[in-house]
Amino acid sequence: MSLTQKSATEQLALLQSGELTSVELTQAYLDRIQAVDSSVGAFLRIETESALAQAAGIDARRAAGQPVGKLAGLPVAIKDILCTKDTPTTCGSKMLENFVPPYNATVVEKLLAADAVILGRTNMDEFAMGSSTENSAYHPTKNPWDTTRIPGGSSGGAAACISADMAPLSVGTDTGGSIRQPAALCGCVGLKPTYGRVSRYGLIAFASSLDQIGPLARTVEDAALLLEVLAGHDPLDSTSVNAPAPAYSETVNQPLENLTLGVVDHHFGEGIDPEIVSAVQKAIEVYESLGATIKHIEMPHADYGVATYYIIAPCEASSNLARYDGVHYGYRADQAEVMAELAEDGSDEGPLVRMYRKTRSEGFGPEVQRRIMLGTYALSEGYYDAFYLKALKVRRLIRQDYDNAFAEVDMIIGPVTSNPAFAQGEKNSDPMAMYLEDLYTVTANLAGVAGISLPCGFTENGLPIGLQLQAAPFEEEKLLRAAQMFQTATDFHTRRPELS
Ligand code: GLN
Repeated sequence: MSLTQKSATEQLALLQSGELTSVELTQAYLDRIQAVDSSVGAFLRIETESALAQAAGIDARRAAGQPVGKLAGLPVAIKDILCTKDTPTTCGSKMLENFVPPYNATVVEKLLAADAVILGRTNMDEFAMGSSTENSAYHPTKNPWDTTRIPGGSSGGAAACISADMAPLSVGTDTGGSIRQPAALCGCVGLKPTYGRVSRYGLIAFASSLDQIGPLARTVEDAALLLEVLAGHDPLDSTSVNAPAPAYSETVNQPLENLTLGVVDHHFGEGIDPEIVSAVQKAIEVYESLGATIKHIEMPHADYGVATYYIIAPCEASSNLARYDGVHYGYRADQAEVMAELAEDGSDEGPLVRMYRKTRSEGFGPEVQRRIMLGTYALSEGYYDAFYLKALKVRRLIRQDYDNAFAEVDMIIGPVTSNPAFAQGEKNSDPMAMYLEDLYTVTANLAGVAGISLPCGFTENGLPIGLQLQAAPFEEEKLLRAAQMFQTATDFHTRRPELS
């Protein structure tokens, strides 16, 4: 097994024992990126110089016996949605092509304080809207298991870089499934924490009541290690919960006793790929063999999840994205072109309004424009009650479904997606088909509960299949322990795509 194939936990042990330096490890990943990222496209930017400088600094401190952080020397890739001081942060959009944040997101501060080495910025669907990473304004990301296919999205780069061994750890965000779905399609582990578990300060907002930051990694232990660093209260985010974050990596190897898992029969209905059904059913059997009790439960409102999400998320997006007007920061349409256009069409629209219009038409891609229009419409007078308010009521019912479920079972087990990775271009002209990718993931965001995706099998064509476990708010510790039980009993997480 090559160095870049080892888990972050194994690499950390080598760093701590002095058998490996951070410069060696960082260089190994930079070489790997050099060798394979031209066929995957996981990164938007690779921070070669600063990564090596950071690594050398950490090595020197360690060698001098000075204290170092929890992730000391481990490279981490960051989704390009998290503000990093003095480093371009594009959110996958032309709108933010030249945006250089003057401050760090709290999670970036935490990673730096833990002495993680920031390797680079990963590709994503523009403003995190999408399920395939084809909506990036820069380039699409390919699935390392089959580069004619999509890696999932919106954290497609974050998942692909893990699965292709270009980073041991990465940070993504999940508003409706954007950590779990790409993790499932790329065969890695991805965890969406409970709403409020991780600070959103410095996360470029898509839908503020749904967005959460979380870890992607190759193993459950590695995800536990990274979550431990990301989680915790932050006075700069009023929705972050004032409760200490447990030391997940210390408990992840303790199996749970008397585990009760809920199965929603509904999850296996029409439209789901039979290979996924069979892999998830086998996973359920694995849990039974480990002593878990399986209970059949109902989630009567889950079917309304996608419809509810595609009202609430665009409404919040239309409000959050109003700030990109070409005035404060970000892309601005060319003034001479604005004036020339006005002169040509003889419109009495003033230059300011035309500048707004042209800036937003040119700076945002088609999917973002669609969401802004959907959201603005659903929030407008006369439609607010019919759409937005109704969606909020259904959201409450979905949360109630979860509360009822968690009164009966510890966790819910089921699929992450209804299909394995699909072909590039297959769904991007059909928004409805793309939105249905979120069928099994959006309800966790609407209810604010925690969810994890972990590898549970492969299709006949060799594409990864993900298993989803969902737990009650702030039960990440149990979620990770339950996931680790499965991982210990199986070897799906050890397989690697063949990339030359
Ligand atoms: N696929 C969903 C969407 O397009 C979820 C995205 C996300 O979680 N950021 O909105």
